[in-house]
Amino acid sequence: MDGLILIKYGELTTKKGNRKFFIKTLENNIRKILKNFNFEIKYDYVRMYIECELQDVDSIVLNLQKVFGIHGIVVCHKVNTKDEIFEKALELLKEQSFKTFKVETTRADKSFPISSMDFSRQLGGYILKNLDCSVDVHNPDVLLKVEIRREGNFLYLNETPGIGGYPVGIQGKGMLMLSGGIDSPVAGYLALKRGVDVECLYFESPPHTSLEAKNKVLTLASILNEYSGHIKVHIIPFTKLQEAIYKNVDDTYVITIMRRMMYRISEKVAKEEKAKIIINGESIGQVASQTLDSMSVINAVTTMPVIRPVACMDKLEIIGLAEKIGTYETSILPFEDCCTIFLPKHPVIHPVLDKVLEYEKNFDFETLVDECVLKRETIDHFQQEEFADLL
Ligand code: ATP
Ligand code: MG
Repeated sequence: MDGLILIKYGELTTKKGNRKFFIKTLENNIRKILKNFNFEIKYDYVRMYIECELQDVDSIVLNLQKVFGIHGIVVCHKVNTKDEIFEKALELLKEQSFKTFKVETTRADKSFPISSMDFSRQLGGYILKNLDCSVDVHNPDVLLKVEIRREGNFLYLNETPGIGGYPVGIQGKGMLMLSGGIDSPVAGYLALKRGVDVECLYFESPPHTSLEAKNKVLTLASILNEYSGHIKVHIIPFTKLQEAIYKNVDDTYVITIMRRMMYRISEKVAKEEKAKIIINGESIGQVASQTLDSMSVINAVTTMPVIRPVACMDKLEIIGLAEKIGTYETSILPFEDCCTIFLPKHPVIHPVLDKVLEYEKNFDFETLVDECVLKRETIDHFQQEEFADLL
């Protein structure tokens, strides 16, 4: 295998005590994401190397750009002899537009007869002779790195930025309320970025919501899966409970109470699945159910931490992120969610908890909540190929 990719951990290295666990988790995540390639991983505390087939290098780099915990990706070129290093260096630099350069050599293989400094000087001289440029050791336009190692010599130029964050899984699991909207997939992405192992939960209300709406959510989950490698989705049959709410609760309070039910169900599923937090896409002030008063009354049903990664972001900022991570195009497909069907004309903006508790006495919601939890459909080890079969 002649392809070689170097991975820099960045933020990881500051977490001294946990470094081993972080790097091991990162390695496992990379193995999942690259499962369709032939490759080998080697690592130490500072960096990781992926050896792969030369023709796979570009695709692997694209996949690695979606792995949290990676801060820099460098494609290395493997060459054998000194002459080959010189030729390859020239070839790489000819593809660049630059005026100044610097060569940096590291000699891990001490049996190599030329010292690092001398080698840099010789190679620098060769480049100066063949290209119209000059050396700048302090602030070069291009930095050419050479590594002399026992298993071969490596040259590299540019670093592709990784997406940063922590490896998914180092923080344990969170249950994401994933709707077909713009906000919740972004919330999921941000939680993954901090190392949370995200599992998803979707409330569907057939026949009021369509199969297309469900498939849209599964597509969003599969996009999040590209950043995680093992997203699981729970689909909650919400129709009976939602109909009971509309039958027993005043119009103005249906959304407040529906969302309290969603939280109750999310907490129960989270506990069964050993998730430690609930994650959702609520954003302060966006709709009636997301005023601070609404959030307080809705949040009161659970003691589990509820993390709202986009709570303080503007819609335009959320849209920008959705575009960047690739969920936006799917999110704007026009299929109705259970939150948007039968939307009341005047939902309460400042709900009163006592009133909510009175309405909730009107029906046996606990049995219905338990039924939702029990009858959920779970799509495990969510992978794109499996997903294709579902559609
Ligand atoms: P939009 O981007 O259109 O605002 P949204 O998904 O944020 O869509 P909201 O009505 O604002 O929709 O809902 C707030 C949050 O509640 C969502 O971000 C999501 O976390 C959760 N939620 C809403 N509907 C569902 C659903 N059907 N299944 C799972 N979670 C849901
Ligand atoms: Mg929203």
